[in-house]
Amino acid sequence: MQRSKKVLFLAHCVMNQNTVVSPLARAEGAFERITSMLAASGFGLEILPCLEMRHLGMKREPMSKEEYDVLAYRQLCGQEAARAQGIVDCFWDAGIQVIGLVGIGESPTCSIGNKRGCFMEALAREPFWEDLGKIDIPAFYLKDKTATEFFETTFREWLDNLTCE
Ligand code: SF4
Repeated sequence: MQRSKKVLFLAHCVMNQNTVVSPLARAEGAFERITSMLAASGFGLEILPCLEMRHLGMKREPMSKEEYDVLAYRQLCGQEAARAQGIVDCFWDAGIQVIGLVGIGESPTCSIGNKRGCFMEALAREPFWEDLGKIDIPAFYLKDKTATEFFETTFREWLDNLTCE
């Protein structure tokens, strides 16, 4: 089987909403339709760790970025960002490219765009960051039907454009 030799990094809870702070979960498990599109893309999927769970466990309360912004958490984010760069380097040696990153909009840890989260800030300091296509699953996803359908179209186009590059 010919491999695509292209890989996407995914924020952990794209595939596993069980790690999200309980009242904020938006699916039983994975984001089903996003996952279907990802699987159909032919890209390999590398799931990043859920660092809020690693830091505070499963019984944590919803917290702001400012509340997460302590030395121990910044260190954890830095360590995991370096580990992600190591994965990129390992793939690169085998002719495999990490070409994209899916984050979680408005997360204090995994938001790429507006008010970037702590983990994404650490990833952005690694050399591979600049070459990635990037998209956040927005906070309204699966909460507003029309906006959700619009975003799914946007997401499919984003994947298609990655395929073309
Ligand atoms: S946004 Fe990131 S830190 Fe928050 S639950 Fe999802 S994977 Fe974990």
